[in-house]
Formats: sequence, C-alpha cells, structure tokens
Amino acid sequence: MTHLITGGGGFIGSHLADQLLAETAEEIVLLDIFSTGTESNIEHLRDDTRVEVLRADVRDTETVANAVTDADAVYHLAAAVGVKHIVENPLTSLETNLRGTENVLEAAAEDGTPVFLASSSEVYGKSEDVPFSERDNAVYGPTTTPRWGYATAKAVDEFLALAYHDEHDLPVVVGRYFNIVGPRQTGQYGMVIPTFVEQALAGEDLTVYGDGTQTRSFTHVADAVEITHELLATEEAHGEVFNIGAPDPTSINDLAERVIELTGSDSKITHIPFEEAYGEGFEEPDEREPDVTKLRETIGWAPEADLERILTDVIDERTAEEVAAR
Ligand code: UDP
Repeated sequence: MTHLITGGGGFIGSHLADQLLAETAEEIVLLDIFSTGTESNIEHLRDDTRVEVLRADVRDTETVANAVTDADAVYHLAAAVGVKHIVENPLTSLETNLRGTENVLEAAAEDGTPVFLASSSEVYGKSEDVPFSERDNAVYGPTTTPRWGYATAKAVDEFLALAYHDEHDLPVVVGRYFNIVGPRQTGQYGMVIPTFVEQALAGEDLTVYGDGTQTRSFTHVADAVEITHELLATEEAHGEVFNIGAPDPTSINDLAERVIELTGSDSKITHIPFEEAYGEGFEEPDEREPDVTKLRETIGWAPEADLERILTDVIDERTAEEVAAR
C-alpha cells in the first residue's frame, strides 16, 4: 500500500507520516515544495526506506497526476497556511489551494483512489454561531479582504471534493482542522502558540492581538493525525465533512498567561491592534469552537482539550532545540 501525503514536509503532514509509518504504511510518498514545509520536519525519516520525498509543487498538474496514480490513498494537505502568510501572499495562496486540490481530485478520480482533503475552521468565516457544526452557515466579508479569499478557496475545495464524490463515486473525506498545534509548528507564519512560546523563552513581550478576548480551540497535532487516518479508513465517512478539533475554547489572553506560567518567564503581555499586526481592513473571527458530535458518532471519539499537554510539548521541543544550539 502506498500513501501519498501532499504537504508531507509540513507541520501536520510530517506528523501524519510518522503516524502512518508507525501503524500501517508500506510506502509513503511525501510531496512538498518546501516553501512553508521544511526539510527538518522530515529529517528523522531520511533513512527510512519506506519513505520517498518528491520535491514538487502541487500546482504542477502532471507531477501530481503521476504521484496520485502510483498511490493507493491520498492525504491532500498541501496548502497555503497561516493567516499572516495568506494576507501577505493572496495570489499564491489562492492558486495553491484551488489548483492543487483540482489536480489531486482529477487524478484520483481516474482510479477511484481515496482522498482526505484538509480543510479548515476558517470556512466558517466570521460566523458567531458557536459551536460550529458541519452543516452550519458560513459568513464571509468583502472580497477586498484577503482572509475571505482563503476561506472561499477552502470552501470551493470542499465543493469540488463533494462533487467528485457525488458524480464520480470518489471516496473523499473532508476534515476541517481547528487550530492544530504542537511540536514542529513554526511561528514564522503567524501562528500564536509557537510565537508566544518563543517570545516567552526569549524573555520578550508576548504580543496579543486585539483585546485578547477572542477564543480558539487548540487541538494537539497527534490527535489530529490519528483522526485524519481513521476517517479515511472509515467507509461511512466518505462523502462527508468533519470538524477536527477539541471542543474547549481558550481566550488568547488566557493562553498568553499559561505560556508565561509554564515557561517560568519574566515576559509581560502587550496588546497590539489587529491593523498593526495584519494590515488595514483585517477582520477577525471572535470565537471558534467545533461541534464534534458527528466525529464522535463516526469514529467513536473526539479529541480532549489539553492545553497543558500541548504547551508542555511545544516548550520542551523549543527548549531542547536551544540546548542543542548552544
Ligand atoms: N495571535 C496573537 N498574537 C500572535 C499571533 C496570533 O494574539 O502573535 C492571535 C490571532 O489574532 C488569533 C489567535 O491568536 O486571534 C490565533 O491565531 P493563529 O494565527 O494561530 O490562528 P487563526 O487566526 O487561524 O485562528
């Protein structure tokens, strides 16, 4: 059995590779252009003969088609990632997310190869109807705000996947990830937990955007990849959309305090207006919480919120890196 992971050099993709190798995989192909993914994420797999790294862009139709043809299952995780990165690179983000998904689905439909499509809680947009369940409405703002372009592109990806399921019987599962976090995630593209941990360890101020009352439901990457694998292996899940997240929101102010406490840092918290952080016209969803009823009914479990475990894992990783660099 050959598993193809697009975005296999990324944060979630590399953890998924570990999970598949530990459980089932005979062979794994990791397709990545290493723009936001990094070689260091998969360094530990370099000598594993079951792993092949394919340095390619998911927008490259022919290469993707060949990789999908050789695979028995596809996890399509390659995508533009990080709100900061997306608002700064709207065109590449749209092209990667739209063309990449079209390429994967079109090729998979040839042989009916099962596809997991990584989507995002971002598709709910600025809906205030928390907790979000899969059939809830999405609420987007104007097309002049790049964030909604990302949300729309991900929503179009979902429409495409579901249409391939309906019209071509393609076994697809759509998973909407809610703030997946853990070791290997970089703060470079704006994600809050690695950013705060790095700031706290460096003794710098923790930069809370807005008033910090906005909430997010943080989910450990180890849970996210286990669910990803289980969903694709569950026939009943095919043609369906699932929230993947731990249903227990934390405010960003509380998060900052927890990080300071757990690192034992002297850092202070500073509040920065959203416009200063992300540019004019930025819009921010206030609350984000998944309803995981459907997930629980389908695979029998859902992740528990465990902010302490997440933060400890990230802090331990960053501390170990600092020690190694000395
Ligand atoms: N955030 C923050 N300081 C940072 C980075 C992010 O306060 O240095 C906030 C951000 O505005 C958002 C939350 O933390 O409210 C989560 O941000 P992230 O980019 O990790 O995820 P997303 O916005 O996609 O939920």
